[in-house]
Amino acid sequence: MGCVIVKDGRVIGTGWTAPAGGPHAERVALAAAGAQARGATAYATLEPCCHTGRTGPCTRALIETGVARVVFAGHDPNPRVSGGGAKELAAAGIVVEGGVLEQAAEPLNRGFFTRMRTGLPWVRSKLAISLDGANGARQRREPMDHERGRSQRRASLASALERNPDRQRHDPWTTIRP
Ligand SMILES: [Zn+2]
Repeated sequence: MGCVIVKDGRVIGTGWTAPAGGPHAERVALAAAGAQARGATAYATLEPCCHTGRTGPCTRALIETGVARVVFAGHDPNPRVSGGGAKELAAAGIVVEGGVLEQAAEPLNRGFFTRMRTGLPWVRSKLAISLDGANGARQRREPMDHERGRSQRRASLASALERNPDRQRHDPWTTIRP
């Protein structure tokens, strides 16, 4: 999740959510903006949270710093938020424009959204198989220029699972390479 604070056409703070347990994007961006956040607009990729999880609610931070307007791309399907964040901000007098890029925001949080809606993780399967059905490391199955996209997709995952025979035979790298 990402957040940008804008005032008078100028970006005064940016932030993204730290790994689980760390501060959310809004708090990072608000801290960067400091006192200038009063009267500013906050743009976020996801509806600000209104519950106390591992960190305090972002709605409170936005209200307390005096942000005037909040624009967010997609609603949070977490049943503890689900429109509640937007409602709380509006009740505090903040102008809220929510769900302005609902479809586009979907892939940004695919794993989180899937888990919130179904209780199941988002699973992506990658198979190295040639057209004749063979697999293995006899030859490279994809061109080198696929590497960049693959690393980016891998960076969006929480964990990777491999078959033990594959690991023993090819020792595939599951690192993220730029
Ligand atoms: Zn939050």
